[in-house]
Amino acid sequence: MITPTQGSITQHFGENPQVYARWDYPGHNGLDLAGQLGQPVLAVAAGRVANGYEPAGYGTYIEVDHGGFSTLYAHLAFRLVNDGQPAAAGEVLGGLGSTGFSSGPHLHFEVRIPGQGAPGYRRHQVDPLPYLQGEKSLPALGSPEGEAPEVVTGRVLCRSLLVRSRPSTQGAVVSRLAHGDEIALHALTAVWAQIGRGRYVALRYDGEELVALDADGLQRLSAAGRGA
Ligand SMILES: [Zn+2]
Repeated sequence: MITPTQGSITQHFGENPQVYARWDYPGHNGLDLAGQLGQPVLAVAAGRVANGYEPAGYGTYIEVDHGGFSTLYAHLAFRLVNDGQPAAAGEVLGGLGSTGFSSGPHLHFEVRIPGQGAPGYRRHQVDPLPYLQGEKSLPALGSPEGEAPEVVTGRVLCRSLLVRSRPSTQGAVVSRLAHGDEIALHALTAVWAQIGRGRYVALRYDGEELVALDADGLQRLSAAGRGA
């Protein structure tokens, strides 16, 4: 993984639980790197800008969907890329800043891996440091250096199932599946699954099952907990 910006670590993942309790997190949900105002913030891997809704505390931020995981860059001074735009690995996304809940210029950097998030971190955040230090590799779909993604199969139960650009109802609709269609699912969470690069489907809506999973899929979901 490319380092998102030059700087010294000022707050590790999981630190200061008392501060982050107000956002219902067990601790700091990313890694803070202090640097100079306006210095470049880079995409750590290739992907597509896909901003979800984040609380105001993040200030100006960018989320990049890498297919299988996403990264988030917060407290920026400015953005240089727009939602939906592809981002190359190492591309400058914006400038380091101090917007939102921030006490000085720093980058708040998150890595989010559906299905692998640290316990209690509801947006699937993991500690970014082992990835930055090369001790762990990211589960990039289709990447030869990534681990082979676990795949389960499912069948569409509802009349029509929207395929979205990211695991959110705010993601753009990229296609549509019909009742009975068989699909291969990666990166399962209790609610969303990935079916390809930048293609996600909801598994449940309002408590209703939208996709029937094979036995492996059901087992993985119950192991991961169904509450999320
Ligand atoms: Zn932070």
